Amino acid sequence: MKIARVQPLARTRAVRGPFDYKLKPEHAEVEVGSVVRVPFARRSMLGVVVELAGESSVTPERLAEPEAVLEDRVPADLVELAMWMASEYCSTPARALALVLAPGAGARTPTRTRQTLEAAITASGLRALHGGAVLTARQRGLLEELERRGPILAAELGTTALRRLEARGLVEIEGRMWRPSPRRPAVGHAPADPLPLTGEQRGALDAVRAASANGRASPLLLHGVTGSGKTEIYLQAAQATLAASRSVIVLVPEIALTPQALARFTARFGDVVAVMHSGLSAAARRIQWRRLRDGEARICVGPRSAVFAPLSDLGLLIVDEEHESSYKHEGDPRYDARAVAERRARAHGALLLQGSATPRPESVIAGARVRLSRRIDARPLPGVEILDMRGRHHPLHPETRLALADLRRQRGKAVVLLNRRGWSNFLSCRACGRVWLCPHCDVALVLHRGGGRMACHHCGHQEPIPSRCPACASTAVARHGAGTERLEHELQGALGDASFPVLRLDADATGTRARAQVLERFAAADGGLLVGTQMVAKGHDFPDVALGVVLDADATLRFPDFRAEERTFALITQLAGRAGRAVSGRVLVQTRAPEARSISFAARHDADGFLAQELSRREALRYPPFASLIRIVCAAGEAAEAQALAGELRQRLDPPGASILGPAPLFRLRGRARSQIVVKAEQRTPAIASVGEAVDALASVASRRGVSVSVDVDPQ
Ligand code: ADP
Ligand code: ZN
Ligand code: ZN
Repeated sequence: MKIARVQPLARTRAVRGPFDYKLKPEHAEVEVGSVVRVPFARRSMLGVVVELAGESSVTPERLAEPEAVLEDRVPADLVELAMWMASEYCSTPARALALVLAPGAGARTPTRTRQTLEAAITASGLRALHGGAVLTARQRGLLEELERRGPILAAELGTTALRRLEARGLVEIEGRMWRPSPRRPAVGHAPADPLPLTGEQRGALDAVRAASANGRASPLLLHGVTGSGKTEIYLQAAQATLAASRSVIVLVPEIALTPQALARFTARFGDVVAVMHSGLSAAARRIQWRRLRDGEARICVGPRSAVFAPLSDLGLLIVDEEHESSYKHEGDPRYDARAVAERRARAHGALLLQGSATPRPESVIAGARVRLSRRIDARPLPGVEILDMRGRHHPLHPETRLALADLRRQRGKAVVLLNRRGWSNFLSCRACGRVWLCPHCDVALVLHRGGGRMACHHCGHQEPIPSRCPACASTAVARHGAGTERLEHELQGALGDASFPVLRLDADATGTRARAQVLERFAAADGGLLVGTQMVAKGHDFPDVALGVVLDADATLRFPDFRAEERTFALITQLAGRAGRAVSGRVLVQTRAPEARSISFAARHDADGFLAQELSRREALRYPPFASLIRIVCAAGEAAEAQALAGELRQRLDPPGASILGPAPLFRLRGRARSQIVVKAEQRTPAIASVGEAVDALASVASRRGVSVSVDVDPQ
């Protein structure tokens, strides 16, 4: 008899599989990774086969049989990876397995052929778009959208209009499998042929190839200043990997940066490149998934979820901008794509190659490091000046105002970073002191003047802008602090005009599309300002930015977080990387903490000095990477419930050699009172196991009392 051990994809923590099912003769093809529909708890449920066996401890008559075997089996190594994630992140097998399934697996309505039509722009389409061919505004819009987003489900854009473009050869529409179309060889960005390497690059590539050849290599860190040509190393390392008949995963920090990376890899490798991200339609994702699983595509590019690409014979996993916190997933399981990549690399004997200009202390000690210390164009890094804001009231230092005025006279470009959205940080009543707070969270509401509303940045609650105080009826409402919206407005008033646009990039510009438009306008302008949150410092390539300004640089330092220094250092260094490409690049850093280590090391471009100090500080305080942190948060309608359950959890925790902080109340979020416990452990595995056991033991008690428990291993 053939038994399949099936993990049902149940939502609740209380269901612990796997459970045995006996296989009918017609289900003989079932293997580890097969996705089946099984009867479970008087329902029909999706499950994944995690093991096969010849016998069961349950008598055969009492065993149920799977009702159906679905297509799109998950590769066995991904099943193993999911089971590891379930325990590593104190989650459940069901939740972890859900991450590695084929997109849309088990969807009740089968996808129709008409819906799987995919449209992609062709080489002639690109020429028409950029070469001034006659196009209606709508056609231009469609082509631009296809260029920006890659292949899209035809139905999403309107099949009729696309068919007309197809007739002109500008678009191709495919029914089944999508193949990347040849892309415009963007000047200086995606040369189709390998570039002759600089001496430094050659040394780095040799190190990568040597590490690859050694089957059980530890991770390799490519520490290269911005503009040092890391991408060319990735491309040539990928080429060597493909030549050895192995496959490649390339991770980028966010969806917005995917098209850029995709274009570079597609220009070099053509149709063996696939892309995976949540911005694609379900049908498109499924097509990409199958191309990867069937070996038709051998390189997968995408944000963190691309780490689950169903590729066989992995030889190389690349994590670009490895310092970005977006590699951490915020849903359960709270996995870190960098750690998952490391685990996959180990399982496949593949090389993990992480790259950054500001690597994490964790990565610096995890393996070998190769350096790229010079920029390709040989331009020096920009001079960074620290401007002391203590005792000043105007938000801009006189030096900053002078620099901006000079820049405008010369029609140059600048990027201005302020890590705070909105118009004013908070409102208060001048008469009685009342502060406008979110009704669901213990935080102040932020004024957004453009949207005519007050908004909570934690839960999304919105309400109208008040004209009087509801407590004392006074009309004297004071607005405090300034965010990017107000900064944009003031800089627009002072400096902006038709030929010198002042643009804003932050999370208020919703949607990848709106943000891409802002970036395009800034890139196309001859001069102007780009004002924004940390988004402006991320990976976007502006060749001609002469000036970078950081306002309130110590804002990130005020967070009570052991990574505050690291973040501040990275933010300033990354912005300097954006700003220094033009002749005489310059960066101004306004701060009330001019002596802060992270700021002064960044001003000297001294990454090594910063890392050395940061590592010794962390070692002394037993912070990661010298210990592991595990955060447990209990949330409930009543503060007492959350605190009580956290207390019970605390009682059950007994990890060897670990210190436990809390339970301590956290600010209320989305109407839920919260209580937190932090475990700081030098022995990671037993600590995770201890937390997992305690949480499992209390799972049903917690759900009965309406307390939700979430565990975050390696919180960001
Ligand atoms: P990084 O990722 O390190 O910030 P990039 O990979 O974006 O840097 O490289 C910066 C620029 O230098 C790109 O335009 C790239 O095409 C170019 N480049 C890289 N390597 C070489 C080379 N060996 N010769 C000429 N240009 C190069
Ligand atoms: Zn009042
Ligand atoms: Zn709120």
